[in-house]
Amino acid sequence: MPINWEAVTAETVQHLQALLRLDTTNPPGNETLAADYLAGVLRAEGFDPVILGATPSRGNLIARLKGDGSAPPLLLYSHTDVVPAEADRWTHPPFAAEIADGYVWGRGAADMKDTVAEQLMVLLLLKREGVPLKRDVIFAATADEEVGGRDGYGVAWLARQHPDLLRAEFGLSEVGGYNMDLGGQSVYMIQVAEKGACWLKARARGRPGHGSLPHDDNAVAHLVRAVNGLLAQGLPYHLPEATAAFLAAAARAAEHTPLGPIFQMLQTPAGAARAFAGPLLGHPLQPFLYAMLHNTATPTGLAAGYKTNVIPSSAEVTLDGRMLPGFDAERFLAELKPVLGEQLEYEILLETPPLEVSSDTPLFDLMAASLKAHDADALVVPYVMAAATDAKYLAPLGVPTYGFAPMQLPPDMRLMEMFHAHDERAPIAGLGWGVRVLYDVVRRYCTETA
Ligand SMILES: [Zn+2]
Repeated sequence: MPINWEAVTAETVQHLQALLRLDTTNPPGNETLAADYLAGVLRAEGFDPVILGATPSRGNLIARLKGDGSAPPLLLYSHTDVVPAEADRWTHPPFAAEIADGYVWGRGAADMKDTVAEQLMVLLLLKREGVPLKRDVIFAATADEEVGGRDGYGVAWLARQHPDLLRAEFGLSEVGGYNMDLGGQSVYMIQVAEKGACWLKARARGRPGHGSLPHDDNAVAHLVRAVNGLLAQGLPYHLPEATAAFLAAAARAAEHTPLGPIFQMLQTPAGAARAFAGPLLGHPLQPFLYAMLHNTATPTGLAAGYKTNVIPSSAEVTLDGRMLPGFDAERFLAELKPVLGEQLEYEILLETPPLEVSSDTPLFDLMAASLKAHDADALVVPYVMAAATDAKYLAPLGVPTYGFAPMQLPPDMRLMEMFHAHDERAPIAGLGWGVRVLYDVVRRYCTETA
């Protein structure tokens, strides 16, 4: 019997609603609520899931559908925690999972309980259909993505304590597989790289004194000039492989739109400088495109002084630094210091590595083909995400991740704008569409021989 996709969509929505009604706001998390729900669903269908966590309330759920072992596993993973919601700012309450206007509304509907429900549904379907798998399919719904760092309770903890449960040839997770508007052309983005973080403080020193007698060794003035120079100049242009792949695909996709020639220009340093100073000034895509071509250091905090009439001896800026593939903190600082100032003192607060996966793999081709099979007009573009995900904890285990959680969005909806926002919601039709695409990818990848 062919799969009844309408029923599958309805079932996916039910799981999503159930998950949205569990308050897994992090902090404190309480992700065991979601893990217990998923375990109940999976046990009822003959799975043998486990819940593991550093504490009873921070449960991670893992389930495995066995293949014949002739090929390595595929990992579908997601996080079940959500960021806080200011309920009085929402049109529909954030933990009620109401359905209105074709959407399911709630905190986590886009980031990322939608994907938890989608991946769960794919696992259930593979089992119900008795698909003969060559690979194990691992389903991991994990805790503590929104707050957790290296010492977190989610993937970071699992990768340390139970690495064998996660080992796979590839992982699929957030953020990609959905359509976005590229200069009037709708394209599907698949994330193949993410930037690393280098959070730091830079401190200027000077001579203390009385505010009534200004002198030219004022730490506050030194810092202001330094930050001003950074903002004016920015950091140098780079073209990592993943960005080059994005620009080539985007130039083809947007060939007949005003953005087409701009994607061409961005492929050289001089062309990029002209584009950012000209047609991209104030353009909604400017931050997204700039971030794929540059390391960035965004001032997010300033601190100095304790009394109005005292010139303090130091002043500091907090910078959210983001590094392209190929960089580490040392190379990043070597690029930042000449721009911000060699005389400042630098202190690294956090470093996480950038990640990059090739888009030239059979799995990438399969994801692109599946998107096209379900949307005849689909153009597929790999991209570099500026922010970081839990993928960084899987990479050291040898598990590269693609950001691929397929969803078809109405033309006026931008998924990234839903993340952490008021009125977060998921389009029901687009979610059902996503389950079909993901099911196709997983079924084919895990049954076909390479
Ligand atoms: Zn997320």
